[in-house]
Amino acid sequence: MNPKSDGDLAGMVPGLLAWFDRSARTLPWRSPRGVARDPYRVWLSEIMLQQTTVPHAAPYFDAFTRRWPTVEALAAAADEEVMQAWAGLGYYARARNLLKCARDVAARGGFPVTENELLTLPGIGPYTAGAIAALAFGERTAAVDGNAERVFSRLLATREDWAAAKRRIGAIARDLVPATRPGDFAEALMDLGSGVCTPRQPSCGLCPITAYCAAFAEGLPDRYPIKPAKTARPVRYGAAYVLRRNADVWLIRRPPSGLLGGMLALPSSDWTETRTGCDPPVEAGWSNIGEVRHVFTHFALHLDVHVADARREQLPEGYWAPAADLAGLPTVFAKAASLAGLSARQRH
Ligand code: SF4
Repeated sequence: MNPKSDGDLAGMVPGLLAWFDRSARTLPWRSPRGVARDPYRVWLSEIMLQQTTVPHAAPYFDAFTRRWPTVEALAAAADEEVMQAWAGLGYYARARNLLKCARDVAARGGFPVTENELLTLPGIGPYTAGAIAALAFGERTAAVDGNAERVFSRLLATREDWAAAKRRIGAIARDLVPATRPGDFAEALMDLGSGVCTPRQPSCGLCPITAYCAAFAEGLPDRYPIKPAKTARPVRYGAAYVLRRNADVWLIRRPPSGLLGGMLALPSSDWTETRTGCDPPVEAGWSNIGEVRHVFTHFALHLDVHVADARREQLPEGYWAPAADLAGLPTVFAKAASLAGLSARQRH
């Protein structure tokens, strides 16, 4: 049976939930079956998973919840500690909003329980609000992430403009949420999209809702979703400076707002659309040792790395850090430090 109208999809819900009961993924942030979900763990995981894969986010989730087991504990943490613990996860505005949100929630005595109220908190957009409301508070609302959008685009064989398709998918998904298990429905869609209805070569033979899938019936499921072609990511250029003194390296803290705001960093030039020369923060015998590349959301960065040993002159604001432990550096600077032979961890 293939759906003749959007409403026909309602029949797939029991089968999807039964499949979820048999096949749900075990993830660090998930509660054992039958145990109520903890809003703090749901919220923290959803923020970490924005733009980040499950395997990459999992060790950060474990580290955060060991160190700050409650939202109140996280709210009381120092900004620098949290930014350092976040280093390597990327998209650092998330960490700043995470702290703001934790402090708002702690001040009000707990998470608000509805999607609409959750939307008023820092860093919580429509998807995250829906996910927390459905998973932690059982609200009959949808959490439609990229995985769920892909599943629905195939179920419906959407051909309209992708923005219009996403609106239709959101409305249909919301209508389908069962009154009794909204959180399980959301996680079932996440699991199906992540493990079965994958972007390429979906495993339709393992899918519990094949009978409802228009793309499967057409025989070309991975033709969907049909999205507009991506425009090329622009390139920016810059320089980073590794200033050494014995076993130490000079680090700065970036200004609180903007890209990588508040993070530890190597001194660097502005990042511009044309290649920059060497304009170091202090005079020293600088050597260009090569280039590292890093991809941010809106641009790719090519960063020339320069190395020198410190002389006695006055240094810009910052401090000497042991070169053997540069764990708090964001990935782009960790790459530059590694190129210079320092032991910064690169987590992605
Ligand atoms: S039948 Fe295939 S394409 Fe359709 S939802 Fe299932 S896995 Fe995805």
